[in-house]
Amino acid sequence: MVSRKDKMGAGAVGRRSVLSNETSADMILWGGNIITMDRQRPQAQAVAVKDGRFLKAGINAEVKVLAGEKTQTVALRGRTVTPGFIDSHQHLSQYGTDLLQIDCHPRKCPTIAQIQQAVLKETKRKPAGEWIRGVGYDDTKARDRGTLSRTDLDEVAPDHPVFIQHVSGHWAVVNSRALEIGGIREETPNPTGGAYGRDPGTGKLNGILYEQAEFAYVFEGTNGQPPIMPAFSLKDRVKGIRLASDRYLASGITGVHDALVSAQTLETYQEAVQREDLKLRVYMLVSIDYLPHLRALNLRTGFGNEWLRIGGVKILADGAIAGRTAYLSEPYIGSEERGILAVESEEALHELIRKGHEAGLQVCVHANGDRVIEMALNGFEKALNELPRKNHRHRLEHCTVVNTQILRRIRKLQLLVTPFGSYIHHHGEKMIPYYGARRVEMMFAHRSFLDYGIGVSGSSDSPCGPYEPLLGIQSCVTRKSAAGEVLGAKQRITVEEAIALYTMASAYASFEEKVKGSVTPGKLADLVVLGEDPRQVDPDEIKDIPVDMTIVGGEIKHPQA
Ligand SMILES: [Zn+2]
Repeated sequence: MVSRKDKMGAGAVGRRSVLSNETSADMILWGGNIITMDRQRPQAQAVAVKDGRFLKAGINAEVKVLAGEKTQTVALRGRTVTPGFIDSHQHLSQYGTDLLQIDCHPRKCPTIAQIQQAVLKETKRKPAGEWIRGVGYDDTKARDRGTLSRTDLDEVAPDHPVFIQHVSGHWAVVNSRALEIGGIREETPNPTGGAYGRDPGTGKLNGILYEQAEFAYVFEGTNGQPPIMPAFSLKDRVKGIRLASDRYLASGITGVHDALVSAQTLETYQEAVQREDLKLRVYMLVSIDYLPHLRALNLRTGFGNEWLRIGGVKILADGAIAGRTAYLSEPYIGSEERGILAVESEEALHELIRKGHEAGLQVCVHANGDRVIEMALNGFEKALNELPRKNHRHRLEHCTVVNTQILRRIRKLQLLVTPFGSYIHHHGEKMIPYYGARRVEMMFAHRSFLDYGIGVSGSSDSPCGPYEPLLGIQSCVTRKSAAGEVLGAKQRITVEEAIALYTMASAYASFEEKVKGSVTPGKLADLVVLGEDPRQVDPDEIKDIPVDMTIVGGEIKHPQA
């Protein structure tokens, strides 16, 4: 890849390099098809990097003159380069610890019996009383389609508390031992913003924990209580971040917005930074539970550095799209249910928005269903009327089910949105049965957001959805499910628009458009080398394009040396 001959390639401009090491580039990538995402110069053949930033982009000859004795050169041989992908809503820290648990995803455990087998295996490894945890369980994709219950888990693990999280992250199944430790009995009333599942026949607890009932087991800070399950050790959490980052980097991700950060997550990231173990850039949306602490410290959005930054505050206002708990104005198909409001009331939501806004923070509201989106819009409208602020960049996270009135209001309030990029591909088959064809036309409404001039960025919600940005780009471009069904074709966007979502738009969503998101001199040298040009391949094969190299801050992070 790097050869003496490549270095001498500078001779192509008629002379040998005479630049000293101080002025010469650290790295030059040349002979490529560089999609810069910079309007001033959308296309380049070569790019030079120095001190972790882009020094120059242009045709081969103008960049190669920056080569010196020590310059590392990469011959692109016609391959495509884009700015590094930035995922504006995912959960790197959670995905990290997920990788330390039983993988119950239907790929690994397609039936309840197989989940039982995996749990049984863990009981042999761990002393009685120790928690057994699994993630990725997805009833809708499981081969047997049954719902896992407390009794299934009791059968194989009577003496260990077991907690199996649904892939949506919004519900989980636990066994009797785990209910006991949580102090949940038949007569325990449902918590605010959550519910304990019950068997429809007997009315008895079936081990399912919805929303706040589940979060009480997992998250610190919720209801001011420590979580019911003991947290992973700091060492394990940092290990998790390393494992997850390696996967992200291999898919071209160079930066993420972690959409739910607690004190513990902040500790993990700081530890990773101090150990020089944080390989990609993180913008943190801190749980609204910590607002009093942020205010007390006068910590505002943007504090930190190019690796780790305090972003906005995150408010969780409703349930999940794939979990059928998004809070809707009209019921789910074939049901009277309208989803779950995860805050106490609309007024309580307005109050949280107002307080976050007043503290000078970027306020990010997780709002999937149209009903809760309207509530959030009312809240933002009030807060901004009372205390107008320019360039607030408040966000509606996901903002899945919309209509033209909602679009107009988002535009007027200048809110940003982070819809799921890959859900049509990943969850396509359940969208019409859950939401109906009419609603699906206005879900993950990337085209509508762009047409209304709304700031829309690329996001995966990993580990709830697949993290690969190329898969997200394909899904936005084709609107095709994995099975090949086209859903809401009117919401299709072009490949270039989709790349912009995962680069410039995500940078904008964290107030960092001046330092990243495009291959522009002076910006952080984050880029991806792709085996093929996503604009040239069959759109159904964008997800299969190999990610040959990922560079963060001028250093090759994938493939690993
Ligand atoms: Zn999320």
